[in-house]
Amino acid sequence: MSVLLGIDIGGTAVKIGLVDETGRILLSETRSVSFDGYKTPIMTTVTALAGELLDKSSEKPVGIGVSATGQIDVHTGTVIGVGAHFGNWLGSEIAEILGNAFHLPVTVINDANAAALGEQCYGRAKGKDNALVVTIGTGVGGGIIENGRLIQGQRGIGGEIGHYIIDFDGEPCPCGNRGCFERYGSTGALVRRFTGDPALLAELGIPAGEVNGKVIFDHLSQPAVQAAVDHWIDCISFGIVGLVHIFNPEIVLIGGGISREEERFIRPLREKILSRAMEQFAKDLVVEAAALGNNAGLLGACAYFRQMHENF
Ligand SMILES: [Zn+2]
Repeated sequence: MSVLLGIDIGGTAVKIGLVDETGRILLSETRSVSFDGYKTPIMTTVTALAGELLDKSSEKPVGIGVSATGQIDVHTGTVIGVGAHFGNWLGSEIAEILGNAFHLPVTVINDANAAALGEQCYGRAKGKDNALVVTIGTGVGGGIIENGRLIQGQRGIGGEIGHYIIDFDGEPCPCGNRGCFERYGSTGALVRRFTGDPALLAELGIPAGEVNGKVIFDHLSQPAVQAAVDHWIDCISFGIVGLVHIFNPEIVLIGGGISREEERFIRPLREKILSRAMEQFAKDLVVEAAALGNNAGLLGACAYFRQMHENF
């Protein structure tokens, strides 16, 4: 059975693991990539950790599957766009650096697209040919599986649903546009709703520096918090309903840390999506939390490698 080296590069940490054909992670390790404010290039940290992991392992991988944050040109394995502000990341030649270091074939794919493939190959979208995977975090990421294949577009950067514009008069977005879905539907947006209202925070007794998704959900018994969260779930549901009408998926999977909140988040989101989508789109549509959690990128990166190298 062939083993791959899977690498999931995020904005704050990299996770590297050896993954077999069934999606089992044999050995893995995580390390910060932002420890010195990105003075050390992310790829320097990644290459060092990959080398250490390979030294520890008796398994010899046949290839390297990388999932990485940012817009990734899948043909060259290069970072061609970054939504957030990481120094030394734009222009990183991920495939070339790893190929030279380890003399193995390398594939690189965006992390949200990887998560969608991971769910399709090893997670809750297994066996589904039409799936939408929406990852709710600091921003909103996504991957769209249509007729069994990931929608990648011309350069492999398709499926960027966080910058799908839902309000053309809306809030400015760091991408340069206005009203992007992630300005409303991300956990980051929910947190901003509270950090932007110091009087409300004071009333709730939450220090401004301690606001995050979990803290907000812990205060749901307060009517003002319930109203804000309800409005936030509304925003997410409208964005997803738009996508449901375009792609007609059979399953919508919601990822990100907040998706662990089944009763207080997934259930109301499911009800809003199913009641707002047009009848024939909502019929038999499944809306659930994604299954793979923190391993989605790692496993999806390996799934993508195997799709690209079917004889490995
Ligand atoms: Zn945007």
